[in-house]
Amino acid sequence: MTRLLLIALSLLWIQLQAQNDSQNLLIKNITIISANTNGITSQVGNVTIADENIIYVSKEEPKKSDYYQVIDGKGKYLIPGLIDSHVHLANTAGFNGTLKNKYPDLVQLYFDQLPRSYLYFGFTTLIDVNNYDPKLINRLLDTEIRPDIYTCGEQVAVMDDFSMEMEGYSPQERYDSNFLNDIYNSKISLPDTIPPEEHTPQKIIKKIREQSGICVKLVYEDEASGLAVTWAKPTTHILRDLIAEAQEFQLPLILHAPSLEGHQIGLETGVQIFAHGLWNWSADPKDFRNRDLSEIHKNVLLQIAKKEQIAYQLTFRTITGEQDLICSDFLKDKNLEHVYPKSYLDLLKTEEGLWGKNKIFGRSEFLKETNPEFYDALRDNHTSDQEMWEEAMEIYRHRLNTVGRFLAENNAYLILGTDTPAMNMYTNPPGYNGIIEMRNWYEAGIPLELIFAAATFNNAIAFNLQNLYGSVEKDKIANLLILNSNPLLNVEAYNDIDLVIIRGDIIERNQLSALEN
Ligand SMILES: [Zn+2]
Repeated sequence: MTRLLLIALSLLWIQLQAQNDSQNLLIKNITIISANTNGITSQVGNVTIADENIIYVSKEEPKKSDYYQVIDGKGKYLIPGLIDSHVHLANTAGFNGTLKNKYPDLVQLYFDQLPRSYLYFGFTTLIDVNNYDPKLINRLLDTEIRPDIYTCGEQVAVMDDFSMEMEGYSPQERYDSNFLNDIYNSKISLPDTIPPEEHTPQKIIKKIREQSGICVKLVYEDEASGLAVTWAKPTTHILRDLIAEAQEFQLPLILHAPSLEGHQIGLETGVQIFAHGLWNWSADPKDFRNRDLSEIHKNVLLQIAKKEQIAYQLTFRTITGEQDLICSDFLKDKNLEHVYPKSYLDLLKTEEGLWGKNKIFGRSEFLKETNPEFYDALRDNHTSDQEMWEEAMEIYRHRLNTVGRFLAENNAYLILGTDTPAMNMYTNPPGYNGIIEMRNWYEAGIPLELIFAAATFNNAIAFNLQNLYGSVEKDKIANLLILNSNPLLNVEAYNDIDLVIIRGDIIERNQLSALEN
């Protein structure tokens, strides 16, 4: 018995050896496009992958000949898998709380498909900037076919901050939360039952590290949002303390700060990443229709552009997603069939699915009550809310176009992030939203080379992931895309994917579509 088993085992061992020898994948004769600190290279070459890693990149074909698979890449393009550094994986694109409660089965289908939707559109690494639902993130991490996922841990908030106010948290919910105690804000006083030593920058960063966070995210909103400020803004002192503590562990701080004041404070305190483009230009309603970037705005943007260590996300889709929600026939886009399971998509097309549009129109009443001056300036001579919001969004988009182009012209360190799905909008479809984001950059006049670097190399550097991702280089993880057309010539090349390679596994694009699953 023992002998038989031994023979069997040794046969198995021989088989395993044989497998090891022919475990490598060779992609030959393909145009390899990759970015590094000196710029972008594009040349025909060969790439070998063993297990999960790239082990060989060269113009010369490697000598070894026994590969389990050889892909002839003639006429095709090999690029690193795309990185989206601003996603919210636990949000449901198209479903608000009411729909989530009513249709739990559809929500299951949505999350089952979610990782594949990102891969279908070439996104192989994701950074969730607010891990408010670790259970859901863990569920996604347990999925077999998925992008690589990182998070910033749970978003940091000072007591009574913008998010707490907007979500309408009760005092108890606020004190129970993992808030950062802003000791420099004299207006904040904690009840005796809350131990301040649990809410120091040290404790907050420790918790983020316990959540395996690779970054720290915080929100800064002010009057320029158009809302009357009823919330607490973090002081520059607490921001500095938080950044210093985060720096101890090489965690970059991402600041959501889409206003001039927010940009100035970010610069002053040394944040490493701006989470959104500068779209709130002024708190003065009289300035709302002013389409020119002022010298003050230009100066701040120029300072950001000059600082090599500051990365900048534009997140067009936060704005243009809302624009799509109220303006266009977005749901007729055939690409959505690959993102949303059919029954889910069908529901979005019903009356119930239209809540997002109504929510935007509902802001009119809110604005009228809380900031009538701003409302009057917006409403002006419009005859309907539809018209008013169409104009407002066109203005926000114009601002992003202007800011994006200005930063690009001044060699700013742009990184691609989409904010998917902001406000749970179905117009921010997972994966596909990144393709639309890149189209928006291109339409704004940002060069294709910069779009490529922003979605690959720049993103990897900004989040200290450059040893793993961002370029086609030896020893990096084999997250790669084979494209049928050249992304340096046409932005639609990113949606012209032949094969997706995730950690060395080759996946036919169609296999990832919601139509197949
Ligand atoms: Zn966001």
